[in-house]
Amino acid sequence: MEMKRWGTRWKWERSKEVTVFALDSKVEQEKSAVVEELEGVLKEFSIPIDVVDGNLKRGGDVALIQTLLDSSIKDNEIDYNEFERELLNVREEGRLPYGLVVPVEKDKHKFYYPPGQKEQAIFGIGVPDGLLILRHTHREAVRHEFGHMLGLGKHHEECVMDYRCITPVFCSQCKRQIEQMWQEEIYKGRYK
Ligand SMILES: [Zn+2]
Ligand SMILES: [Zn+2]
Repeated sequence: MEMKRWGTRWKWERSKEVTVFALDSKVEQEKSAVVEELEGVLKEFSIPIDVVDGNLKRGGDVALIQTLLDSSIKDNEIDYNEFERELLNVREEGRLPYGLVVPVEKDKHKFYYPPGQKEQAIFGIGVPDGLLILRHTHREAVRHEFGHMLGLGKHHEECVMDYRCITPVFCSQCKRQIEQMWQEEIYKGRYK
């Protein structure tokens, strides 16, 4: 998975928005907890990005996101690389410019791994160019995947970035990394 390049802004960041969509009623119940968790991380680092309920505020995009998800699924497995490629395509047309968060029903979906891929996504996937797909929505998993979206790349123990998603806490090194990667936004948010 690609790391956030130092000094480079990912396109979705310009929207200053992370948007959460629930595509069926079961995950709809988990949506507000996901929104809260994402807001908590942003607040923790004073990153001025809004978390938006997509079904409420961006209802016109629901059908397109459903199409992206459907077209990335084969045999109940989500090919998230395919999802990401399609997302980047529609963003070229100016659509879905925000950081996109899609919880999916864990009993219905697994992730597809290309043969030979070592790390397997169980709880969800998060990529720094603005996509989170969550199979699990407990806070450790949401914070972990969001950590990837904010630019953290490496898994390690004693941190929320442990691949097992067993603690909600960002270690001091990850904290520092986020603060450095986002320093411009954090500064602007504080002194605008
Ligand atoms: Zn991870
Ligand atoms: Zn860490």
